[in-house]
Amino acid sequence: MKTVFDKSVPGRLGTVPGEARRKAADFLPADLLRAAPPRLPELGELDVVRHYTELSLRNFGVDGNFYPLGSCTMKYNPKFTECAAALPGFTDLHPLTAQLKGAGQYTQGALEVMYDLERLLCEITGMCDFTLHPMAGAHGELTGSMLIAAYHRDKGNKKTKVLCPDSAHGTNPASATIAGFEVVNIASRDGIIDPDALAEALDDEVAALMMTCPNTLGLFERNLPRIVELVHSVDALLYYDGANLNAILGKMRVGDVGFDVVHLNLHKTFATPHGGGGPGAGPVGVCGRLRDYLPISRVKKLEDGRFVLSYDHPKSIGYMSPFYGNFGVLLKAYAYILRLGREGLTRVSENAVLAANYLRKRLEDKLEIPYNRTCMHEFVASAVRQAENGVRALDIAKALLDRGIHAPTIYFPLIVKECLMVEPTETESKQTLDRFVDELTDILALADADPAAVQAAPVHTPVGRLDETKAARDMVLTHDL
Ligand SMILES: *Cc1c(COP(=O)(O)O)cnc(C)c1O
Repeated sequence: MKTVFDKSVPGRLGTVPGEARRKAADFLPADLLRAAPPRLPELGELDVVRHYTELSLRNFGVDGNFYPLGSCTMKYNPKFTECAAALPGFTDLHPLTAQLKGAGQYTQGALEVMYDLERLLCEITGMCDFTLHPMAGAHGELTGSMLIAAYHRDKGNKKTKVLCPDSAHGTNPASATIAGFEVVNIASRDGIIDPDALAEALDDEVAALMMTCPNTLGLFERNLPRIVELVHSVDALLYYDGANLNAILGKMRVGDVGFDVVHLNLHKTFATPHGGGGPGAGPVGVCGRLRDYLPISRVKKLEDGRFVLSYDHPKSIGYMSPFYGNFGVLLKAYAYILRLGREGLTRVSENAVLAANYLRKRLEDKLEIPYNRTCMHEFVASAVRQAENGVRALDIAKALLDRGIHAPTIYFPLIVKECLMVEPTETESKQTLDRFVDELTDILALADADPAAVQAAPVHTPVGRLDETKAARDMVLTHDL
């Protein structure tokens, strides 16, 4: 495929840069103006539209096809949220405006949205306070881990360890490690945390337990009250990885249950684009004990009703990100929450759980389902039977791509062999779910009859099986113009 530079034709124009240049010349000093034009591709508007439309069609996105990628919550991102994020009063705001003396009037709307969003997330999760600074879930985990470290340091606690269950997303141990903790793995029993194993691992050096509930197997942690009690008994804190919040929206508030710090993935639960589709946001919520350590800046409402960013928080862990560069994501999530309201958000989790259980039941005699009981918003199947015949989870995933369906997450969580983790989300119709079952059934039949045909997939996608490490080993970071 040619790049937009390869397609350049000297002299072909889309816009009239001369005018822009004249405008720049009106206010820029002469010595700052370019002597030669920049080496931009020269193309007509239609060429550019076709180029990028063609590229977009080669991509796989939720606007085009079903995307049951477990743990990632690839729900449809409704377009009204794009309208909210595109309002010029927001898009034209410079990140430093809030600090500019006398410019407060321009930032009031944006700050109010941020303030309101923090309050809404508190209401949804039962936490006391939120920061919108973290840029993604993993960044939220790092923020949370640093808050936990700051809390213990401040109390004079000598805590060096963070516990993570063996079903944890890889970012959990990674974040705790970056924050300076030693990670201890907790073995699960029957797919969930074993309170006895937890009790055994708990001692005075444990700073926190990081957990996801429902966990990455889509199973609810039925021993949650016991877990909370055990963790708090050694003055350790409970971290909630909110990536699976879609399963419990409107049903359970993690703050009420006893979690001390949570991150949410707005780009999962609250329908903002992700997976190559845009930036994310990983707001972090805390209980009262951790409030003083939240990163700066904080959004504050003054007594006269005005909003400001405040920086005077001596116990704060400091900056996690200097600006709200992902403000558009916050706006989309805000619009989504307001549009759905309490009832709508509750229906989200109900339908997400229903869709997952529907697929689980329809697939239970076709694939091995290791923990085959009522699941939450996702479940994990295994291709161990097919693997005996040489067809692995990876092959099934590639064959699905050939049929216009994104693969489930494969080989994660690590505790299930040949796993396929299916998360349909609430936005898919029964017809779409049925088509998924039909296509998968077809692939599994082919896996029995002609394994090589499944192993050869994909053949209809723009690229076939890639060398997954070549891009890292053999980097090409520039384009020779
Ligand atoms: C997606 C995910 C994360 C990481 O979130 P990012 O926003 O991708 O950084 C962490 N934990 C779980 C369970 C996840 O699914």
